[in-house]
Amino acid sequence: MRTLLRELRSLIEHEKAVYGDPLLLDSDDGRSEEIPSEDAPSPDADANAAGSGAAGSGSAASPDPDPSSDSSDSSDAMPNQDLFGNEVDPAEDPSLPPWERITSLIPDDAPYKDAETLEEVESFLANNVLVPIDEDRENPVFGVGDAKADLVIIGEAPGRDEDKEGEPFVGRAGKLLDKILDAINFEREDVYITNILKSRPPRNRDPHAEEVEAHLPILYKQLALIRPKIMLCVGKVAGNTMLDRSSSLSSLRDKEHDFYGIPVIVTYHPAALLRNPQWKRPTWEDVKLLRTRYDQLTEA
Ligand code: URA
Repeated sequence: MRTLLRELRSLIEHEKAVYGDPLLLDSDDGRSEEIPSEDAPSPDADANAAGSGAAGSGSAASPDPDPSSDSSDSSDAMPNQDLFGNEVDPAEDPSLPPWERITSLIPDDAPYKDAETLEEVESFLANNVLVPIDEDRENPVFGVGDAKADLVIIGEAPGRDEDKEGEPFVGRAGKLLDKILDAINFEREDVYITNILKSRPPRNRDPHAEEVEAHLPILYKQLALIRPKIMLCVGKVAGNTMLDRSSSLSSLRDKEHDFYGIPVIVTYHPAALLRNPQWKRPTWEDVKLLRTRYDQLTEA
């Protein structure tokens, strides 16, 4: 596709040089359509910039790119334009590696957008109040584990124990998560564990939209730095937020989703399992699928 585009562009340049006019193509309805030249401003540029803040938009349906392919050279060489010169939203460009697609979701004015380490992002979180729950927290809960983990586990938000200790999943639900991981042969240290929200909402209520909007780009940055090969979302809030859906857990689980090129499995939240032990069996099925896919992706 990129080769075709390059050839078309050089043809246009040639036509321009010879005839002094842009190449015109006939459209289906008989009207002529101009292919804009490489440096022509795209009518979609603003829409793309504005539309990239939401989580997972369109990602579940996007084709699965080869996450191992490093297309940084091609993206440097070619602007992200489609055949007709319209700018392609980098988040929706499956030819880009996942971390480039995910980075494009982070607002340009986020001070941590160009951070090179998780520590830089963590220090930003610790030193800034983005939404009122950041003011009320005892500790920010950034994330824990291997900074280069192939598996990232995403929960909803810290609870009381996590708020106290500044670490995700350390309470009862966390102990159950450790057992689940152990059942599929992972140590807590092998993976990276984090949440959508980095501060505890009062009385563990559901996250508010403005809290998600403020904290989600921090998670995007974590993912862009860690570059996991697969992710596990525990609970409906984490799954729906990452995949930009509002589905039941039963329709999210038992399958693989795509988050900008990274496979995602969704299963029950361990806190829900404590209240509903009948969900342990489907959770076991989900995490077996996770382990199988992890092994395939890390062996590749
Ligand atoms: N529940 C979550 O979703 N995250 C935690 O860190 C703890 C409990």
